[in-house]
Amino acid sequence: MTEGTSLESAQSTASGARIVRSLEELVGGTPLLDLRLPGVPDTARILAKLEMFNPLSSVKDRAALHMLRAAEASGALPATSGTVIECSSGSTGIALAALCAARGHRCIIVMPDNATEERRQILRDLGAEVVLRPHHDGLLASWAFAEDLRRATPGAWMPRQDTNPANPAAHYATTGPELWEATGGAIDVLVCGVGTGGTLTGTGRYLKERRDVHVVAVEPERSAVLSGGEGGPHGIPGIGAGYVSEITDLGLIDEVLPVSDEDATEATRQITRSSGLLAGISSGAAAHAARRLSRQRRWADATIVTVFPDTGERYLSLALGGPTASEPSSEDS
Ligand code: PMP
Repeated sequence: MTEGTSLESAQSTASGARIVRSLEELVGGTPLLDLRLPGVPDTARILAKLEMFNPLSSVKDRAALHMLRAAEASGALPATSGTVIECSSGSTGIALAALCAARGHRCIIVMPDNATEERRQILRDLGAEVVLRPHHDGLLASWAFAEDLRRATPGAWMPRQDTNPANPAAHYATTGPELWEATGGAIDVLVCGVGTGGTLTGTGRYLKERRDVHVVAVEPERSAVLSGGEGGPHGIPGIGAGYVSEITDLGLIDEVLPVSDEDATEATRQITRSSGLLAGISSGAAAHAARRLSRQRRWADATIVTVFPDTGERYLSLALGGPTASEPSSEDS
């Protein structure tokens, strides 16, 4: 073997290229894009944390990994050959399915029957069993079904992302510190979409412990429960689950900005056209909210950080780029 090219010495190089032994080593450490969005004053800065750079292309890789590790550490789940059952129409299911494949766990994902075909297919390709439930019964009915399935399946463990403290803990341990480090602590505002509330709670708590960061929660206008409204179907998958989850720390939220489906979709298109980035619709919602803030006198010189949870490639069947937006969905996290 040529000197200096052994596996060990090649694991970390000056370029950052490295050899990893499993995908989970690649979770986190995502980059920030200095977003150039039309309509943002030159003096303000919007930095978007690109969670699509996680191995399964979403912010949920962080929560899924932390929840699995916590369950394995407590003995709730064996290190291999266990059974994981979760209710998710989106990224959490995909992240869990991938981690379970690598660890040799059986994975069952309960999802509403209006989840896009590409999501069902990704889950099946990752070896998960997909159980569809009627979406008009609502998310809480899907959770109840999944709980029944867990009770009927010996040894099964359910992450239950909307009540599991390991979900916000993932962001307290990783997303928050990464934002702090990348900006040298120069953060005035955090803008965060709320699905389970894990990202906002963990990241917001970490940042607020260090500095008086203004924390802004983003929710769909048509499911504006944090603003005191009713939950309902809407067109921003991943946020606006229709209820305030147990893990959401409302005390961290300084302001709530409801965003319409149309504004989220339009901002998603603008991001793609102005920077070449294919972001998911909830990223558009976050960007729209960040831009609205940047136009206020108070934040005209501010550094606003936001989290872009996933990639637009997960929404191709919704045909956002076309002239018509698709039928709204109430997909959850
Ligand atoms: N956007 C998308 C696309 C998501 O999948 C999620 C996760 N549900 C969120 C936003 C919100 O993240 P959280 O559950 O941490 O609130």
